[in-house]
Formats: sequence, structure tokens, C-alpha cells
Amino acid sequence: MSPPGRPQGESRRAKPEGTAGNPPGRPQGDVRSAQPDRHPARLADRDSESRRLPRRHALAGLAAMGLVRGWPAHAESPASSPAAAGPQAPTPLLPEGSAVPGGVAVVEVAARSTARPTVRHLDRPVMVRAQGEAWVAVVGIALAANPAQTHTLEVHTADGATRRVPFRLTAKAYAEQRLKVAPKHVELSKENLARYERERAHLGGVLRTFSAAREPATLRLLQPATGPRSSSFGLRRVFNGQSRNPHSGMDIAAPTGTPVVAAAAGEVIDTGDYFFNGQTVIVDHGQGFLSLYCHLSAIDTARGQTLRAGDALGLVGATGRVTGPHLHFSVYLNAQAVDPALFLPAS
Ligand SMILES: [Zn+2]
Repeated sequence: MSPPGRPQGESRRAKPEGTAGNPPGRPQGDVRSAQPDRHPARLADRDSESRRLPRRHALAGLAAMGLVRGWPAHAESPASSPAAAGPQAPTPLLPEGSAVPGGVAVVEVAARSTARPTVRHLDRPVMVRAQGEAWVAVVGIALAANPAQTHTLEVHTADGATRRVPFRLTAKAYAEQRLKVAPKHVELSKENLARYERERAHLGGVLRTFSAAREPATLRLLQPATGPRSSSFGLRRVFNGQSRNPHSGMDIAAPTGTPVVAAAAGEVIDTGDYFFNGQTVIVDHGQGFLSLYCHLSAIDTARGQTLRAGDALGLVGATGRVTGPHLHFSVYLNAQAVDPALFLPAS
């Protein structure tokens, strides 16, 4: 575990931060910082070892029952719902009020009676789903997005027309953690820096994956490992006055060896052992919806493998730059890390 205020052991220097969790090439300067594991704050204690390990069927059962705050059991999927959904209110895809930096904007872009449009935001494709009688864009919002600005989607309809659809965000304040540590704890060696840069380029490419033809059956996710969840998504960390990228995911405290399962059905598009993230698996759920699992002690899947929700993919560990075993879990939409809690059952 990572006791609060003890970042030692995960040294790296300020400049080139950014982990898998913070893909490069985003417009918000992630070059500055980042690392999933630095927020010791909410990781729970070792007594979690007494916790029972999850059984994947139990997890899957949760989803099947639809026992998720804000989620109906029958969340709608374009593939399965008829064109005329009926007069009842549209089924919400996500909890309300999630259109914040680090959240997800669900924006109506066309009537369901028309062919499904394609939509882009900041020059990247975004997910489009059916909701009630509308097509909605499901847009991952960068943590660095400015809520004071009006944001715009580019909507390309089947008749060849392009429309611009504006949407607004609500501000959200994320916590900040200021730490002073010996400089040697925030410097990377030349070799490690070079390795990190290579990995950052690779992971950035993987995280920009957009499989247009793969339709996520649902946006609801299973909690991928049993254990207490941190609420440290978006936490901004400042080391010796230099700010790092905010925490790009959620940490689930669990002992080494705890099973980790796929949060939803998808294809494994990357596995590797990375400098900051340790042993890592990335699953593509379709249309730019990805999940990432870091610091694993073992990987029990392989690139190209198709997983069902709840299928085992590895074991919790402490690989990479961490101070103790836990699962770092990130969720991406259109290459933006968004708050995993929006997709998970209430804890
Ligand atoms: Zn983390």
C-alpha cells in the first residue's frame, strides 16, 4: 500500500511524466506529469488481505441484475433496441451530471429516425449510441477541458451534411496534493527516461484505438477486482512545486494475487510490462471505450484474445512504480481518461 505522504520509491522526474494513463498527443500538455500511482491517499490497509477474493460469476451477476446506481437493468444498445423506442423517457446511459472535466458528456446529435451519424470531437471520433428516440454522442471530456468555454461536436449525417453541435460542461473541483520530497525521488535516470518515452509513445497509440464496428453492449462496467476503491481520479499532485498530470484512474486496494477481471466484454489490444504502470492489460470495448489494468503480478490473457465481462485477465500486484500492491484501473473514451466511478456500480 502507499501510506499517505510517502511518495518515495516511485521516483521520476517532473518533466516527462505521463503514464499509460495519460496518453501523449492530447492537447492538454500531459507531458508534464503523471502517474497513476501516486496518490497514496485512499489506498486501504493490508487488512484487505482478509477479504474474500471475487468470483467472476458473482461480479457478472451484479451487472446482470442491473444493480447499479443510475443504470437500468436494460440499458439500451442500438443493436438491440427497435427504432421506435416508444413514448417512455429515454434510458440514461450515464448518471446525470457527468458532463464535467474528466467526465462524460452525453449529447443528442440526431433523431433516431435518421441513419446513425458519425461524430468527431477535437478531431477524434467519438461513440454514438441510441438513447430513446435520439442518437447521442458519448464524449469523454479531458480533465484539462475548460468548463467556461462552449465545446463543439462535428456531426456528419448520412446525407453528407456536417453540423456543429455545441455543448456545455459544468465545472468540477478536484483535490490537490502538495508534497515535498528529496529531488532524487523525482528524477529518472537517462535510461529510464528513454524507456519511458518509448513506452509513452506506444501506449498513446494504443489508447487512441477507435474500433468503429465494435459495439459496446453497455457502458456499465464491473468492478474489476474486489477491494476498497479510491476516489482519487483527477487528484492533482504537485511535487516540489512542479505539477504532475492528475491521477488518471481509480485505485482498488487489494493484496497481490487477487483476481482481476475484464470490466466489460472486449478484445485485449495490448499487454506489456511498463516502467510506471508495470504489467498492464488494455481492453477495447469498442467505439473508443477502453479499460486499462496496471501493476499486475501476472497477466493471464494475450493480445488479440476476446474476453467476456468478468473473464479473468490477471492478478493484482505491485509491478511498475508503486509503493504497494493495488489495481490501477482507468477508463478511456475517445482517448480521454474519464472517471471510472461513472461506469461502476455504487460501492
Ligand atoms: Zn492509480
